[in-house]
Amino acid sequence: MFGWTGKILHVNLSKGKAVADTYEASMARNFLGGRGFAAKILWTELERGIDPFSPGNKLVFAAGPLTAFSLPSSGKLVVASKSPLTGGYGDGNIGTLAAVHMRKAGYDAVVVEGRAKKPTVLIVRDETAEFLESKDLWDLNSFETEKKLKSVYGPNTGILCIGQAGENLVKYATIVSQEGRSGGRPGMGAVMGSKVLKAVVFIGSHDLQAAYPKEMQELGAEAYREVLTKPNYAFWKRQGTLSTIEWSQENSVLPTYNYSEGVFQKAEAIGGFAMEKIKVSNRGCPQCNMTCGNVVKDSDRKESELDYENVAMLGSNIGLGSLKQVAALNRVADEYGLDAISLGNILGFAMEASEEGLIDEKIPWGGFKAAKTLIKDIAYRQEGLGDLLADGVYAASVGIGQNSNQWAMHVKGLEVSAYDCHTTPAMALAYGTSSIGAHHKDAWVISWEVKTGRKGYSAEKVDKVIELQRLRGGVFECLTVCRLPWIEVGLELEWYTKLMHAATGLEISWGDLNVVADRVFNLTRAFWVREFGKKWSAEMDSPPDRWFDEPLSEGPLKGTKLDRTKYDIMLQNYYRRRGWDGRGIPTKLTLSKLGLKDVAKELKGHVKLVD
Ligand code: SF4
Repeated sequence: MFGWTGKILHVNLSKGKAVADTYEASMARNFLGGRGFAAKILWTELERGIDPFSPGNKLVFAAGPLTAFSLPSSGKLVVASKSPLTGGYGDGNIGTLAAVHMRKAGYDAVVVEGRAKKPTVLIVRDETAEFLESKDLWDLNSFETEKKLKSVYGPNTGILCIGQAGENLVKYATIVSQEGRSGGRPGMGAVMGSKVLKAVVFIGSHDLQAAYPKEMQELGAEAYREVLTKPNYAFWKRQGTLSTIEWSQENSVLPTYNYSEGVFQKAEAIGGFAMEKIKVSNRGCPQCNMTCGNVVKDSDRKESELDYENVAMLGSNIGLGSLKQVAALNRVADEYGLDAISLGNILGFAMEASEEGLIDEKIPWGGFKAAKTLIKDIAYRQEGLGDLLADGVYAASVGIGQNSNQWAMHVKGLEVSAYDCHTTPAMALAYGTSSIGAHHKDAWVISWEVKTGRKGYSAEKVDKVIELQRLRGGVFECLTVCRLPWIEVGLELEWYTKLMHAATGLEISWGDLNVVADRVFNLTRAFWVREFGKKWSAEMDSPPDRWFDEPLSEGPLKGTKLDRTKYDIMLQNYYRRRGWDGRGIPTKLTLSKLGLKDVAKELKGHVKLVD
């Protein structure tokens, strides 16, 4: 095989053993890599109903056939597991040198199971794997952990680690790399903590084998140059995703006061131009010439890397209008290894609960000090509110009761990310049907929707959501390369099929890639359905009640809210176009067409399948 290394490393922490295995070429063709490999491995190897924190759950690090080749933004890997937050399929991607070194060590994926007896660091150095006891690293934050490991293994090694939140099994703890590049929102860091695995260090020295090495080198270099020629490139380097704050404000979709509003009075103070005034540098993932991380000095005089999501969630969503203070909360979240999106969502929920008098603690809107204290309580699962909020917004609403579920903003247990959807039905559908819960990554349809008309619940919108789920959540997550060169500066999609040909030698069209994307999407859906069995229903794909029941009370779109009947009709239309039944479960025919007959066979044991 070219492009792929053809090997997966299976690590058992209970036994202190690591075994490399080869896999069939059909696995590469049918699932590509990244999310595709993760979904296939978790579907095949996990038992239904397994406790996400049990040693039997598996944590997968997976890259794709383009990862780590010299081409734009190819330094990413996917981390995946059964999620402790949602009970379903969970994953996320991280831009990290670990992706590059894992591939150069000879592996497309590493699968970790078991539980170490003592805090452990796994060192994967080419063909060898070592298990090092690391008590001295336990209770260090992610920045300190990485610094210590780099002082031993060198500044350019690939390191994935957890902070205190992962150690303490906070259900939205992430895995962190390179001071703030984190991923795995649905608790992948907590799964790593449950395995008592503090960090993984990758050191790889092999060259990747392309089918056409010269063509690969030339195409990659050309694609890098092409990125630089795009008209939006210079502005992108200045602000990265931060300009979205102003865009969201203009279009009434900026999450504000726990998603009760879409505009924030102090939006300008936390927007892209405000950020430029305090910016000290750009930071980015390896292999990338777009480096979109905006590093600023925060109110504690520490460096913090800002993007749209973390600023909106720790800013407008909690009523905080000081960008330096937002940056300080973000820095603390990264240090503890907490997902900043879920955290901002949950802080907003806690502030609303405090305002409503449903909890004793006083946590005012925009209260920086109270928020910072609460973040520490969450990371350490401090008895009481910290411990409750550490289980996620859905569990917190169950614990608090008193109708607070009305404004617990999640889908399938994953906290909604940074777009308010009172006025955007297609984006609500994207959240409703994403593979991991309410995440924007799979189908960021909102900018298209705002441009083309946000009022309707049309078939065209359904098709657009599916198209983006194929591209973003499917192809890019499997290849595994960053989608932003395409979305944000306009690197044409044809580059990726050309690069795939040079890397693998295979003639793969976009049509072929879309079939893989559908296969993977249906497999992640099957994973959810297998877990939930007869409890599964179309309600699982519904966005939060607040957007249906409470209209916006401010801004140009005041009075707007989602229409539940129309949403449900749109959802049924989505199911039909996906080849799913009225509950959102793939039919036997759909699974069979995608080469997933064996999946249908197993699913039949847990839920009635429609032909
Ligand atoms: S564009 Fe941003 S997120 Fe994508 S690879 Fe580059 S630095 Fe990472």
